[in-house]
Amino acid sequence: MNAIPVIAIHGGAGTIVRSAMNTDAEARYHAALNEILGAAQRLLAGGGSALDAVTEAVRLLEDCPLFNAGHGAVFTAAGTHELDASVMDGATLEAGSVSCVTRVKNPVLAARRVLEVSDHVMFTAAGAEAFAAAQGLEFVEPSYYYTEARHQQWQKARGTLRTMLDHDAATFAFAGASEIQDTPGEDDPLDPAKKFGTVGAVALDAHGHLAAATSTGGITNKQAGRVGDAPLIGAGCYASDATCAVSTTGTGEMFIRMLAAYDVAAQMEYRGVSLDEASHDVVMNKLPRIEGRGGLVAVDARGNVVLPFNTEGMYRGYARVGEAPVTAIYR
Ligand code: ASP
Repeated sequence: MNAIPVIAIHGGAGTIVRSAMNTDAEARYHAALNEILGAAQRLLAGGGSALDAVTEAVRLLEDCPLFNAGHGAVFTAAGTHELDASVMDGATLEAGSVSCVTRVKNPVLAARRVLEVSDHVMFTAAGAEAFAAAQGLEFVEPSYYYTEARHQQWQKARGTLRTMLDHDAATFAFAGASEIQDTPGEDDPLDPAKKFGTVGAVALDAHGHLAAATSTGGITNKQAGRVGDAPLIGAGCYASDATCAVSTTGTGEMFIRMLAAYDVAAQMEYRGVSLDEASHDVVMNKLPRIEGRGGLVAVDARGNVVLPFNTEGMYRGYARVGEAPVTAIYR
């Protein structure tokens, strides 16, 4: 018999500023996570596929301004928004992704169309937008992604990042990951200078299939054209029914160098270890060795769910069909 269907999501990881804790803000994050888990849970309960559940969960996370993806995405150094997204089907190993899109309302839907109709896996920039337009996807003005809070955060990050660019990639990514508070100073319990924002989902469906999806605005003040881990299959997103489905968040450069998402699956396959052991090794041992900070959510074919992170907090949650969703922010 198949395991109970389950969805797990994340909305970014980082360092908690205890002084900035605010119960209203926390409640808003919990409410948003709960609502999105509930929607994906209903889909799975109705026999929906894991692929549909992760696509829908990430679409809703993109639409929510609390998270750095879609509406509410961070700014590049050029003052623009460039979005990355990916999706992978564990049943078929089909995948789709887009990077550096600037006008597609929901990048995850573009990634999904790439998976479904294209012979290719990844489109970038103008080519990705031309593909999305040909697919009839919804386009928005770049101002759609704008939030005042993220704009203010970018203004702050501009100065500091310039002085840190000559440092190593870890410092760059860490500093660049400065993220926006939606009401700066009071709304977000995570230190804006040490918080990563990306959204993602993994799911197991009633048919025993796995899927993963990831979407992000990237890191604040990133150089135009920079591509992070989120749209790279194997780095920020991976799914195989044989092992697990993984979606990551954190310092993208290190997740790329570590092939973080695939490494979890590879360790399960080649070392025969559990999902828990494999993901713990990647997040707590291997990534920190190259100063990789962040976390991931993952699920295996038995319905085991893990949500490890090496920062002080990560917006996260999971919901099994028939059970109340569980959400958390801190360790
Ligand atoms: N991993 C994302 C990137 O590097 C950022 C994040 O997770 O906050 O683009």
